[in-house]
Amino acid sequence: MAVTDPTVDPMAYLEEAKNRKNENTGDFTARPFFFSIADGQKALIRPLLNLNAYVRVHKHEYYDNTSKKWLFRSQCAKDLGQECQTCIDVEALPEDTKEEKKIKRQARASERFVLPAYLHAVVEVKSNKKVTYTDMEQQEHDVSGPRLLEMKPQTSPILDKLLTTYQASESHDISKRDFKIERAGVGIETVYTVEPKDPSTFDPAFHDIPVEYLDRDLVFSIYSDACPPRIVGAEPVVAQPKSTNGAIRDIPQF
Ligand SMILES: [Zn+2]
Repeated sequence: MAVTDPTVDPMAYLEEAKNRKNENTGDFTARPFFFSIADGQKALIRPLLNLNAYVRVHKHEYYDNTSKKWLFRSQCAKDLGQECQTCIDVEALPEDTKEEKKIKRQARASERFVLPAYLHAVVEVKSNKKVTYTDMEQQEHDVSGPRLLEMKPQTSPILDKLLTTYQASESHDISKRDFKIERAGVGIETVYTVEPKDPSTFDPAFHDIPVEYLDRDLVFSIYSDACPPRIVGAEPVVAQPKSTNGAIRDIPQF
């Protein structure tokens, strides 16, 4: 149940959305379920669906710098055709001061474009060492596996490069190549450099990628699981990030 209108050309819509006035700024969410790299790291990813199969969602997201807490962070329940408790809560916020108005504006649901990708690896740029994590059994693993790219239309340099690559390539298919993404800086100083690699073969089955990441409707549903909407009158749902490492294979040079 991806949010799509069959009468709208998805690529024309995406281009229009990118050129819309910028409403707010922000960073990618940090859940392991979503693609995310730190300052000084680079990643090699392969889009698992073509750009015109993006999933469009709306998200409430507001981080309070004073309490260091997310005041709002959920998919808008309207995406599922339900009444949204977060919309109601946001509209009930005060708006007497300039600051209050700003919070209210930023906490309202805004648009995201979501695309599944396979993360081959993450490498520290300086040392060229692979980034790893340690699991509950104290085993060390490379950071790798399927992820969701969650991109804001007006501010994502990754979306910019995916779109220009889509437009420039004869096949109009971004899933035929890998992309190198490098991050420098933190917070609002963050700069992402995105470089499309030459086309290469990629077999999702070889990487044990769960079917949820290969189907547009299922991508919508795992997004909802990771970022649960608050439906009016329903029990609160706890986020269920389905981060998985898939199978570790030989990683292309990048
Ligand atoms: Zn909402």
